[in-house]
Amino acid sequence: MQVVRDKQFVPFIDKQTLEERIAEVGRKISEDYRDKNPLFVVVLNGAFLFAAELIKNVPIPCEITFVRVSSYSKTESTGQLKEILGLKESIEGRHVIIVEDIVDTGLTMNKLLFQLSVQKPDSIQVASMLFKPAALKTPLTVKYVGFEIENRFVVGYGLDYDEQGRNLDAIYVLAD
Ligand code: 5GP
Repeated sequence: MQVVRDKQFVPFIDKQTLEERIAEVGRKISEDYRDKNPLFVVVLNGAFLFAAELIKNVPIPCEITFVRVSSYSKTESTGQLKEILGLKESIEGRHVIIVEDIVDTGLTMNKLLFQLSVQKPDSIQVASMLFKPAALKTPLTVKYVGFEIENRFVVGYGLDYDEQGRNLDAIYVLAD
């Protein structure tokens, strides 16, 4: 049991299971992008630990950059994407992989994909540590998924509850 602020969370995906699966996703990306020098666009803050673990397992030439967007207030997704901040590189002609902590309604990712695709990358795919298919509100392909999970609120491994809990080294789910 973990208390994050005023809420109780219970273990959901342990560190070893999580990291073994992330390594597997990293190996798959390495196969798919050999000779493509992919550009990982990591969405802060939530994806920082997933991105670190993932990219350690991608032993091919690649580049990494970080952006910020925000769409969440406390435990409910608002779907309000603010502008993309911090993207200094041109992505034109690049093979882009957006690295996200979790796809919930998919609204954030959809807007992000739209905003990045106008810059004409050669290809653009999504790698998300967690994916809640039942929460999806828009058509979206998440090519690289760590774990598909049910539609419940989770914290840990970069994911926060009101800015706390990002430091937990496993995924915890809000207790009923
Ligand atoms: P979406 O636009 O897909 O609904 O939401 C995407 C963002 O909402 C994620 O990047 C993440 O920051 C936040 N989010 C969605 N579901 C959860 C969840 O279960 N736990 C936490 N901590 N954040 C979530």
